[in-house]
Amino acid sequence: MKVIFHPRFYEVYTSDPAAAAGRMESIVKALEKDFEFVEPGPALERDLERVHGRSHIQQVKGDRPVYEIGCLAAGGAILAAETAFNGQTSFGLIRPPGHHASPHSCWGFCYFNNIAIAIKKLITEGKAKNALILDFDLHFGDGTSNTFSGSTSVSYFHPEGINRESFLEDLRRCLQSERLYDIIAISAGFDRHEEDWGGLLKTEDYFIIGKWAKEASLQRCQGKRFGVLEGGYNHSVLGRNVRSFLQGLSD
Ligand SMILES: [Zn+2]
Repeated sequence: MKVIFHPRFYEVYTSDPAAAAGRMESIVKALEKDFEFVEPGPALERDLERVHGRSHIQQVKGDRPVYEIGCLAAGGAILAAETAFNGQTSFGLIRPPGHHASPHSCWGFCYFNNIAIAIKKLITEGKAKNALILDFDLHFGDGTSNTFSGSTSVSYFHPEGINRESFLEDLRRCLQSERLYDIIAISAGFDRHEEDWGGLLKTEDYFIIGKWAKEASLQRCQGKRFGVLEGGYNHSVLGRNVRSFLQGLSD
Protein backbone atom coordinates (compact mmCIF):
# COMPACT_ATOMS: atom_id res chain seq x y z
CA MET A 1 0.00 0.00 0.00
CA LYS A 2 1.43 3.33 -1.08
CA VAL A 3 0.18 6.60 0.34
CA ILE A 4 0.49 9.44 -2.16
CA PHE A 5 1.19 12.66 -0.27
CA HIS A 6 2.97 15.98 -0.81
CA PRO A 7 4.01 18.32 2.04
CA ARG A 8 2.29 21.16 0.19
CA PHE A 9 -1.03 19.57 1.21
CA TYR A 10 -0.33 20.99 4.67
CA GLU A 11 -0.81 24.49 3.22
CA VAL A 12 -3.94 26.35 4.33
CA TYR A 13 -4.84 27.47 0.78
CA THR A 14 -8.26 28.91 1.66
CA SER A 15 -10.67 29.24 4.60
CA ASP A 16 -12.97 26.21 4.17
CA PRO A 17 -13.02 23.12 6.46
CA ALA A 18 -11.22 20.94 3.88
CA ALA A 19 -8.31 23.40 3.90
CA ALA A 20 -8.20 23.77 7.70
CA ALA A 21 -4.89 23.80 9.56
CA GLY A 22 -4.05 20.50 11.24
CA ARG A 23 -6.34 18.34 9.10
CA MET A 24 -3.63 16.62 7.06
CA GLU A 25 -1.27 16.47 10.04
CA SER A 26 -3.82 14.39 11.96
CA ILE A 27 -3.96 11.85 9.11
CA VAL A 28 -0.21 11.74 8.41
CA LYS A 29 0.45 11.12 12.08
CA ALA A 30 -1.88 8.10 12.05
CA LEU A 31 -0.37 6.60 8.88
CA GLU A 32 3.33 7.42 8.76
CA LYS A 33 4.57 4.51 10.86
CA ASP A 34 2.83 1.82 8.84
CA PHE A 35 2.65 3.03 5.26
CA GLU A 36 5.17 4.06 2.62
CA PHE A 37 4.68 7.63 1.40
CA VAL A 38 5.29 8.72 -2.21
CA GLU A 39 5.31 12.32 -3.51
CA PRO A 40 3.27 13.17 -6.61
CA GLY A 41 3.93 15.84 -9.20
CA PRO A 42 1.23 18.26 -10.41
CA ALA A 43 -1.32 17.29 -13.04
CA LEU A 44 -0.73 18.93 -16.41
CA GLU A 45 -3.28 21.24 -17.98
CA ARG A 46 -4.12 18.58 -20.58
CA ASP A 47 -4.96 16.20 -17.71
CA LEU A 48 -7.43 18.77 -16.30
CA GLU A 49 -8.89 19.32 -19.78
CA ARG A 50 -10.02 15.70 -20.03
CA VAL A 51 -12.69 16.62 -17.46
CA HIS A 52 -12.95 20.42 -17.23
CA GLY A 53 -13.74 23.18 -19.71
CA ARG A 54 -11.14 25.84 -20.45
CA SER A 55 -13.14 28.60 -18.81
CA HIS A 56 -13.43 26.66 -15.55
CA ILE A 57 -9.68 26.03 -15.52
CA GLN A 58 -9.01 29.73 -16.21
CA GLN A 59 -11.32 30.72 -13.38
CA VAL A 60 -9.51 28.50 -10.86
CA LYS A 61 -6.22 29.86 -12.19
CA GLY A 62 -7.32 33.29 -10.98
CA ASP A 63 -6.37 32.19 -7.46
CA ARG A 64 -2.79 31.03 -7.93
CA PRO A 65 -2.29 29.16 -4.60
CA VAL A 66 -5.56 27.28 -5.07
CA TYR A 67 -4.69 26.44 -8.69
CA GLU A 68 -1.26 25.10 -7.74
CA ILE A 69 -2.53 22.96 -4.88
CA GLY A 70 -5.47 21.82 -7.06
CA CYS A 71 -3.06 20.62 -9.78
CA LEU A 72 -1.02 18.81 -7.15
CA ALA A 73 -4.12 17.07 -5.74
CA ALA A 74 -5.17 15.98 -9.24
CA GLY A 75 -1.58 14.79 -9.83
CA GLY A 76 -1.82 12.79 -6.60
CA ALA A 77 -5.00 11.08 -7.79
CA ILE A 78 -3.35 10.29 -11.14
CA LEU A 79 -0.34 8.73 -9.39
CA ALA A 80 -2.66 6.73 -7.11
CA ALA A 81 -4.58 5.41 -10.14
CA GLU A 82 -1.42 4.54 -12.08
CA THR A 83 0.16 2.86 -9.06
CA ALA A 84 -2.99 0.78 -8.61
CA PHE A 85 -3.11 -0.09 -12.27
CA ASN A 86 0.49 -1.27 -12.07
CA GLY A 87 -0.48 -3.68 -9.32
CA GLN A 88 0.09 -1.82 -6.06
CA THR A 89 -2.87 -0.61 -4.02
CA SER A 90 -2.66 3.06 -3.19
CA PHE A 91 -4.36 5.95 -1.47
CA GLY A 92 -4.20 9.59 -2.50
CA LEU A 93 -3.92 11.56 0.72
CA ILE A 94 -4.74 14.80 -1.07
CA ARG A 95 -6.60 18.08 -0.80
CA PRO A 96 -8.54 20.01 -2.03
CA PRO A 97 -11.16 17.28 -2.47
CA GLY A 98 -12.75 16.87 -5.89
CA HIS A 99 -16.13 15.15 -6.07
CA HIS A 100 -18.18 18.39 -6.20
CA ALA A 101 -16.19 19.66 -9.20
CA SER A 102 -18.19 19.31 -12.42
CA PRO A 103 -16.80 19.93 -15.92
CA HIS A 104 -17.78 23.63 -15.88
CA SER A 105 -18.35 24.53 -12.24
CA CYS A 106 -17.42 23.62 -8.70
CA TRP A 107 -18.55 24.09 -5.10
CA GLY A 108 -18.25 22.33 -1.72
CA PHE A 109 -14.51 22.98 -1.15
CA CYS A 110 -13.65 21.35 -4.53
CA TYR A 111 -11.94 22.83 -7.63
CA PHE A 112 -10.84 20.00 -9.93
CA ASN A 113 -12.33 16.52 -9.90
CA ASN A 114 -9.30 14.51 -8.85
CA ILE A 115 -10.77 11.02 -9.20
CA ALA A 116 -12.46 11.79 -12.53
CA ILE A 117 -9.23 13.24 -13.93
CA ALA A 118 -7.34 10.11 -12.86
CA ILE A 119 -9.89 7.69 -14.35
CA LYS A 120 -10.18 9.66 -17.61
CA LYS A 121 -6.40 9.49 -17.99
CA LEU A 122 -6.33 5.70 -17.51
CA ILE A 123 -9.12 5.27 -20.05
CA THR A 124 -7.71 7.73 -22.60
CA GLU A 125 -4.36 6.00 -22.47
CA GLY A 126 -6.04 2.65 -23.11
CA LYS A 127 -5.05 1.18 -19.75
CA ALA A 128 -8.53 0.65 -18.29
CA LYS A 129 -11.70 0.20 -20.31
CA ASN A 130 -14.18 0.29 -17.45
CA ALA A 131 -14.11 1.67 -13.95
CA LEU A 132 -16.32 1.66 -10.90
CA ILE A 133 -16.18 4.78 -8.76
CA LEU A 134 -17.53 4.08 -5.28
CA ASP A 135 -18.07 7.27 -3.26
CA PHE A 136 -18.78 6.73 0.46
CA ASP A 137 -18.50 10.40 1.46
CA LEU A 138 -21.50 11.79 3.32
CA HIS A 139 -22.32 13.99 0.32
CA PHE A 140 -23.34 12.94 -3.20
CA GLY A 141 -20.48 13.58 -5.63
CA ASP A 142 -22.46 15.59 -8.15
CA GLY A 143 -19.26 16.58 -9.97
CA THR A 144 -18.20 12.98 -10.56
CA SER A 145 -21.74 11.95 -11.46
CA ASN A 146 -22.03 14.84 -13.96
CA THR A 147 -18.65 14.02 -15.49
CA PHE A 148 -19.64 10.45 -16.26
CA SER A 149 -23.39 10.84 -16.88
CA GLY A 150 -24.21 8.81 -19.98
CA SER A 151 -20.85 7.05 -19.87
CA THR A 152 -20.96 3.35 -20.66
CA SER A 153 -17.45 2.77 -19.32
CA VAL A 154 -17.52 4.46 -15.91
CA SER A 155 -20.14 3.80 -13.23
CA TYR A 156 -20.53 6.17 -10.32
CA PHE A 157 -22.15 4.87 -7.16
CA HIS A 158 -22.97 6.70 -3.92
CA PRO A 159 -24.51 4.41 -1.30
CA GLU A 160 -27.35 5.67 0.85
CA GLY A 161 -29.07 4.37 3.94
CA ILE A 162 -31.17 5.65 6.79
CA ASN A 163 -29.04 3.76 9.28
CA ARG A 164 -25.60 2.18 9.54
CA GLU A 165 -26.77 -1.30 8.54
CA SER A 166 -28.72 -0.20 5.46
CA PHE A 167 -25.88 2.06 4.34
CA LEU A 168 -23.34 -0.76 4.55
CA GLU A 169 -25.75 -3.14 2.83
CA ASP A 170 -26.23 -0.68 -0.05
CA LEU A 171 -22.48 -0.30 -0.39
CA ARG A 172 -21.90 -4.06 -0.34
CA ARG A 173 -24.55 -4.61 -3.02
CA CYS A 174 -22.83 -2.08 -5.28
CA LEU A 175 -19.50 -3.89 -5.03
CA GLN A 176 -21.16 -7.22 -5.82
CA SER A 177 -23.18 -5.96 -8.79
CA GLU A 178 -22.63 -7.50 -12.19
CA ARG A 179 -21.28 -4.35 -13.82
CA LEU A 180 -17.90 -4.64 -15.52
CA TYR A 181 -14.86 -2.83 -14.24
CA ASP A 182 -11.08 -3.01 -14.68
CA ILE A 183 -10.39 -0.96 -11.58
CA ILE A 184 -12.21 0.21 -8.45
CA ALA A 185 -11.68 3.86 -7.57
CA ILE A 186 -12.94 5.04 -4.20
CA SER A 187 -13.89 8.56 -3.25
CA ALA A 188 -13.16 8.15 0.43
CA GLY A 189 -14.90 10.78 2.52
CA PHE A 190 -14.96 10.28 6.26
CA ASP A 191 -17.62 12.87 7.16
CA ARG A 192 -20.27 10.14 7.70
CA HIS A 193 -18.49 9.02 10.90
CA GLU A 194 -20.45 9.06 14.17
CA GLU A 195 -18.25 11.91 15.47
CA ASP A 196 -18.26 13.87 12.20
CA TRP A 197 -21.06 15.68 10.32
CA GLY A 198 -23.02 12.57 9.27
CA GLY A 199 -23.10 10.86 12.67
CA LEU A 200 -23.52 7.35 11.25
CA LEU A 201 -20.49 5.09 10.80
CA LYS A 202 -18.08 3.64 13.33
CA THR A 203 -14.32 3.60 12.84
CA GLU A 204 -14.35 -0.19 12.26
CA ASP A 205 -16.88 0.24 9.45
CA TYR A 206 -14.17 1.88 7.35
CA PHE A 207 -12.07 -1.27 7.78
CA ILE A 208 -15.03 -3.35 6.56
CA ILE A 209 -15.60 -1.05 3.56
CA GLY A 210 -11.91 -1.28 2.65
CA LYS A 211 -11.96 -5.07 2.99
CA TRP A 212 -15.06 -5.44 0.83
CA ALA A 213 -13.50 -3.23 -1.85
CA LYS A 214 -10.32 -5.34 -1.71
CA GLU A 215 -12.29 -8.59 -2.04
CA ALA A 216 -14.39 -7.26 -4.91
CA SER A 217 -11.29 -6.08 -6.75
CA LEU A 218 -9.57 -9.45 -6.29
CA GLN A 219 -12.63 -11.20 -7.72
CA ARG A 220 -13.28 -8.78 -10.55
CA CYS A 221 -10.21 -6.80 -11.62
CA GLN A 222 -6.97 -8.49 -10.51
CA GLY A 223 -6.99 -6.55 -7.28
CA LYS A 224 -6.68 -3.14 -8.95
CA ARG A 225 -7.99 -0.57 -6.47
CA PHE A 226 -7.20 2.84 -5.09
CA GLY A 227 -8.80 5.53 -2.99
CA VAL A 228 -8.52 9.29 -2.73
CA LEU A 229 -9.48 11.51 0.18
CA GLU A 230 -12.66 13.60 -0.13
CA GLY A 231 -14.34 14.91 3.07
CA GLY A 232 -13.82 14.31 6.78
CA TYR A 233 -13.60 17.23 9.19
CA ASN A 234 -13.24 16.08 12.80
CA HIS A 235 -9.47 16.08 13.19
CA SER A 236 -9.64 14.07 16.41
CA VAL A 237 -11.05 10.97 14.64
CA LEU A 238 -10.04 11.50 10.99
CA GLY A 239 -6.59 9.89 11.29
CA ARG A 240 -7.84 6.68 12.82
CA ASN A 241 -10.72 6.46 10.34
CA VAL A 242 -8.41 6.77 7.33
CA ARG A 243 -6.05 4.26 8.91
CA SER A 244 -8.89 1.79 9.49
CA PHE A 245 -9.96 2.08 5.84
CA LEU A 246 -6.41 1.59 4.55
CA GLN A 247 -5.88 -1.45 6.78
CA GLY A 248 -9.00 -3.03 5.25
CA LEU A 249 -8.07 -2.04 1.70
CA SER A 250 -4.43 -3.17 1.81
CA ASP A 251 -3.23 -6.75 1.24
ZN1 LIG B 1 -18.59 15.35 2.22
